[in-house]
Amino acid sequence: MSKNVVILVGAPGAGKGTQAVRLSQALELPHISTGDLFRANLAGGTALGDRARSFMDQGELVPDELVLEMLFDRVAQEDCQKGYLLDGFPRTIAQAEALEARLGDLVPTVVDIQVPDSDIEQRIVGRRMCKECGAIFHLTFNAPAAEGTCDTCSGALYQRKDDTKEVVRTRLEEYHSKTAPLIAFYTERGGVSEVDGRQQPDLVFEACLASIQGPIQGSGHGVSI
Ligand code: ADP
Ligand code: AMP
Repeated sequence: MSKNVVILVGAPGAGKGTQAVRLSQALELPHISTGDLFRANLAGGTALGDRARSFMDQGELVPDELVLEMLFDRVAQEDCQKGYLLDGFPRTIAQAEALEARLGDLVPTVVDIQVPDSDIEQRIVGRRMCKECGAIFHLTFNAPAAEGTCDTCSGALYQRKDDTKEVVRTRLEEYHSKTAPLIAFYTERGGVSEVDGRQQPDLVFEACLASIQGPIQGSGHGVSI
């Protein structure tokens, strides 16, 4: 059975979660977000959530050993046997090496959703999430029909504690120093597709899908490097 592992890389707020929901449906792969897994642990009051909390609140990466155990437990589950779509993992070279050791000969498909730092603060500060279903909104770019209420399930919307102007600076520093080096890491292996994340979400989706399934000639989307 061939296995398909897709990795979405990109700065915080680049649109990974927004795209992962649609890509997961289109590719029929489970969407695994380590940020969502940590938030579920926080909400559930687990020991892991307690250990991750201060790092997350300050915008720092959670130590690799905590992330790896949680992620490998998740991908060992039955629904991941045909593959999975990773959103927010790996975020360090050590995480990428651990994943590589686990995948063996399987080379993941890597898509880098690119958004300049100058756009990130507005994306992050305006983000609102549904408490019930996790749907992602933006006060300006993807506003819910009724203020504070999820379009999908009518759940209450909230602002993540780390989605502030102050914390976003640390998150971007962490991204550039620890996560961006993954681009060179994966370029040396299977390659990385670059997608312009400043486009409308529908266009970003098409470009991501094209680069995962193989670029359509002349489409201009999903350039493989
Ligand atoms: P990430 O998972 O990479 O942190 P999200 O998918 O949560 O990013 O998106 C961050 C914010 O930007 C959300 O409020 C989302 O609604 C908004 N957003 C996502 N994609 C776009 C886009 N292409 N254009 C404008 N805003 C977007
Ligand atoms: P995200 O939802 O992807 O924006 O992640 C929110 C926070 O969870 C990050 O700022 C980190 O503190 C933590 N986190 C999520 N995924 C990882 C990871 N792969 N490695 C380290 N920390 C992570």
